[in-house]
Amino acid sequence: MSKDVFVFIEQRDNVLQKVGIELLGKARELADDLGQNVVAMLLGENIKGQAEVLIKHGADKVIYVEDPILKEYVTEPYAKAINEIIKENDPEIVIYGATSIGRDLAPRLAARIHTGLTADCTKLEIDPESKNLMMTRPAFGGNLMATILCEDHRPQMATVRPGVMQAIDTDNSRTGEIVEKKIDFVPEDMNVTIKDILKIESKKKDITEAKILVSGGRGIGGPEGFQPLEDLAKVLGAEISSSRAAVDAGWITKDHQVGQTGKTVRPEVYFAMGISGAIQHLAGMEESDLIIAVNKTEDAPIFEVADLGVVGDVNAIVPKLAEALKKAKE
Ligand code: FAD
Repeated sequence: MSKDVFVFIEQRDNVLQKVGIELLGKARELADDLGQNVVAMLLGENIKGQAEVLIKHGADKVIYVEDPILKEYVTEPYAKAINEIIKENDPEIVIYGATSIGRDLAPRLAARIHTGLTADCTKLEIDPESKNLMMTRPAFGGNLMATILCEDHRPQMATVRPGVMQAIDTDNSRTGEIVEKKIDFVPEDMNVTIKDILKIESKKKDITEAKILVSGGRGIGGPEGFQPLEDLAKVLGAEISSSRAAVDAGWITKDHQVGQTGKTVRPEVYFAMGISGAIQHLAGMEESDLIIAVNKTEDAPIFEVADLGVVGDVNAIVPKLAEALKKAKE
């Protein structure tokens, strides 16, 4: 009988990635609805020390695998270890981050285990009647949301984009079980050679980590339109992000893009400046705590999700706003 909600936890250089902690928050909710447990799967070299953190963030049990072969993510050894854990434990649900690692790993496991996989989910819920997992994701270019079921196979598997689910706060009173799983790796499991690891150093903060985002769209008029936004962001201690239209026009790089094919963000404040509010953009920012929109078109869809909307010219309003905030700070 399948049971429990399993989460694949990502680590890089033995640092737990935020997405895994977010997924534990969602897994906790799903497991409570099912009356089952949350199990975190943690792989790496000398990784056991991180297991406690996962319990404090919602896991009832951590299954960890330590081996030098798992130091860096490589498909085959990771797929072998997770495959063995799943086959031994028969989970009801397994969730992964829709990151480059999760997107590589999850489909391989789906094929090995002979089950389905719903990629890039934005919502996961338990059907109160059937107790099946309802996996919702954008479909047809984001024009509709599709809810997908995996009724006949177990585990039910999904990948979820970073920033979509909410982590639960650290609870130091939580306790749980930490179990080591031994995997017999053989040299052939390492079917690639890592010659060098080149890291791209970014001076900018990842937009998914920002507390305040000032986002520019086509309405800012051109690449020079980002300068007033930068000035405003500086006063606010914010980061700059954008719509896809601004990226496609070559005004800003893709790592700033918010939305269905960009990043999902959940800042405390999101400024949408000259952004119409297309459904694909909203998919990446509508969970922000406070949305402030400036748009010259009164019925722009962005105003439907905005907590505060200003109808007006962004080029006139942004410098004035930056100036006023600067004065208020002095
Ligand atoms: P526009 O839609 O052109 O809107 C510009 C807005 O600025 C208008 O509302 C206008 O009234 C306002 N404006 C103009 N001048 C001023 C001014 N001077 N002052 C104030 N307001 C002004 N989009 C994303 O953003 N992210 C995605 O990840 C994404 N993924 C997509 C995936 C698919 C499969 C598809 C089909 C589309 C995707 N899109 C995405 C594109 C999306 O559909 C929109 O085309 C895009 O979001 C529009 O960007 P925008 O709001 O900046 O531009």
